Amino acid sequence: MRRVSVFGATGSIGCNTVDLLRRQGGAGAFDVVALSGGHNIALLAEQARDLNAEIAVTAYPEHLDDLRNALKGTGIIAAAGDEAIAEAAARPTDWAMSAIGGYAGLRPGLALLEHGGVLALANKESLVAAGPLMLAEAARHKATILPVDSEHSAIFQALVGEDINRVQRLILTASGGPFRDWSAERIARATPEQAMAHPNWQMGQMISVDSASMFNKALEMIEAKEFYGVGAERIEVIVHPQSIIHSMVAFIDGSIMAHMGTPDMRFAIGYALNWPERGNLPVAPLDLAAMGRLDFEAPDEDRFPALRLARRVMAMGGLAGAVFNAAKEVAYDAFMARQIGFADMAVYVERALDSAESRGDHNATTFDLDNVIGADRAARIATREAIGLRQAS
Ligand code: NDP
Ligand code: MG
Repeated sequence: MRRVSVFGATGSIGCNTVDLLRRQGGAGAFDVVALSGGHNIALLAEQARDLNAEIAVTAYPEHLDDLRNALKGTGIIAAAGDEAIAEAAARPTDWAMSAIGGYAGLRPGLALLEHGGVLALANKESLVAAGPLMLAEAARHKATILPVDSEHSAIFQALVGEDINRVQRLILTASGGPFRDWSAERIARATPEQAMAHPNWQMGQMISVDSASMFNKALEMIEAKEFYGVGAERIEVIVHPQSIIHSMVAFIDGSIMAHMGTPDMRFAIGYALNWPERGNLPVAPLDLAAMGRLDFEAPDEDRFPALRLARRVMAMGGLAGAVFNAAKEVAYDAFMARQIGFADMAVYVERALDSAESRGDHNATTFDLDNVIGADRAARIATREAIGLRQAS
């Protein structure tokens, strides 16, 4: 039986992954090693019992007693804290899902790569902050990274049997989010509730807000550059409000291959789970006649400056991705706590890039975990200071 683990099992991607594991036979078909979660202990325990996991880990030590109680009598190990997550990630698997939200997914992702096998990577932040390190670790341990971000999965599928040198450009589609047709003034006044209301995709809170600001697409541009090794000039973004085309690859002969489907993350998760084959997925069939039309428009980098910032990060190179992601996460927290406005997020991220560039923080002669952690920490401190927040301990 395939040994599998799901990190971030209680989140949006994690629940979809558990759903597919269940539909493909659950505990009878997979040897489930580890499941991790955060605050949602009842769900984590229910998943662990149902899939008969070896170990269930919460990121938060204050929930350990609750998790232990919920798993009493099952023989499933309960554990808590970042170290416990890293240790659970070090348990060998054939296939593992990395779907913890944000920078917290980096260390478990690196630990998962150490035992080879397939890493289904939803956690885009680990590629943005530490792409060269993730790829080097994958090569060193003969692990295969399969992208789970829908755009990158679409591109991966369009590239099967193709030569990346024959690719003219990668075309990432973007829904445009809930503020696609809002004025800059209205966007600046947007509330967290408005930003969380994504028109097409059901996702976790941070990625939903990042979709509204298009920081999500900015992260994805960098993710594409890191993962596919193409220059920034070969990465294009097009707004496609219906989210039916999940992304495209344009080749040197003028052909464009598109991946299409309803907006359902189980396409990308299921592709990674069944790769290199295709499985039967419980996704709604696409009725193009009922849709009638697909629309496209150029992205507006004035109203959505995150896209411009992504190009700057790609031009800076080195640790700029770590700086960018860290400043973005701090600005996101401040926006959600109503300490800064929606449009201020891009202002503070740009400021973090300015100061990193002027100090040369992003220059790295070696690209290792210590450098990434250092750049991340410095950018978080600088951004909290710029916003006027007290430093987290
Ligand atoms: P969610 O917020 O829904 O889930 C995040 C998961 O991480 C939950 O299991 C959560 O636990 C857990 N978690 C929370 N805090 C910590 C922590 N400090 N340490 C470890 N684990 C923690 O996020 P999504 O599922 O939406 O996104 C996960 C990743 O996948 C992100 O990197 C996102 O960018 C990427 N992604 C998501 C897509 C989507 O459709 N949702 C699409 C493409 C990419 P709990 O809920 O129990 O607190
Ligand atoms: Mg995506």
